[in-house]
Amino acid sequence: MEKIVDGKSYIESIRNRNLNVYLFGNKIKEPVDHDMIRPSINAIAKTYDLAVSDPELASVISPFTGERISRFLHICTSSKDLVLQNKMQRKLGQLTGTCFQRCVGMDAFNSLYSVTFEMDERNGTNYHQKLISFLTLMHKYNFVLGGAMTDVKGDRSLGPSQQVDPDMFVHVTKRTSKGVYISGAKAHQTGCINSHWLMIMPTMRLLEEDKQYAIVGAVPVSSKGITYIYGRQSCDTRSLGWFFWVLLGYSRIEQKRFRVYCARSRI
Ligand SMILES: Cc1cc2nc3c(=O)[nH]c(=O)nc-3n(C[C@H](O)[C@H](O)[C@H](O)COP(=O)(O)OP(=O)(O)OC[C@H]3O[C@@H](n4cnc5c(N)ncnc54)[C@H](O)[C@@H]3O)c2cc1C
Repeated sequence: MEKIVDGKSYIESIRNRNLNVYLFGNKIKEPVDHDMIRPSINAIAKTYDLAVSDPELASVISPFTGERISRFLHICTSSKDLVLQNKMQRKLGQLTGTCFQRCVGMDAFNSLYSVTFEMDERNGTNYHQKLISFLTLMHKYNFVLGGAMTDVKGDRSLGPSQQVDPDMFVHVTKRTSKGVYISGAKAHQTGCINSHWLMIMPTMRLLEEDKQYAIVGAVPVSSKGITYIYGRQSCDTRSLGWFFWVLLGYSRIEQKRFRVYCARSRI
């Protein structure tokens, strides 16, 4: 794979991944070409195009690769960095009028950068270096990283290890010399299928008995074994045109209401 340099090459980079994505109960063949999904992809593409048209605002030189990358992959080390990050987000809000989906991932590795440093200092572990290796890979290809924190949580009055179904929170199921195996469900992952990698993190405070749930790690979006259920918004079908409602087989009453609406609005 080549390094992503603009919106067009970003869109090409997420094609043909054969993701297991479901929307309205049907499997989506190619999310990139889906009328309802594409606007969100276009919004991320804008983050790359802004880095081309205004490199000072939306890009930085990577401290790991020495190459120009998106500011969304930057570790903030000064107040100036934070101000520029905010100005870039404001500009993208003005340009897209929607969510550009890269903020959760950016916040995730920024906080992990200091947390892993402090963990290693206290425990003699090497998590910080592992994170830097991962970020170097992200910088090399100028990838999009999604932040996957919110677990589906099941019974809200119970902790992760007390749930009847252990998959209500993502947790470790097996540890081998190669690494760990995880299982479970996450909810509300903004832009997850538009990302290249997902940073998985716990969603709430954990107790000693929740040890298997204390897992942070990155997985490629195209990993085998992940199923994505595309979330609904009240207005998302507008992009599909009025005939879509009929195709979906809405109830006769709703169809009748819709026809009345069309007649009144002279559609
Ligand atoms: C548009 C959108 C985008 C999002 N993007 C992301 C993303 O990219 N990545 C990500 O990780 N998450 C994302 N989220 C998820 C968001 O962070 C969560 O929705 C939020 O943390 C709340 O969690 P929840 O929906 O499970 O609500 P809940 O935890 O069920 O909370 C619902 C309400 O119940 C209360 N409550 C919960 N448990 C208890 C309890 N035991 N006792 C008393 N009160 C309780 C809460 O305070 C709250 O008022 C997104 C959400 C939205 C709406």
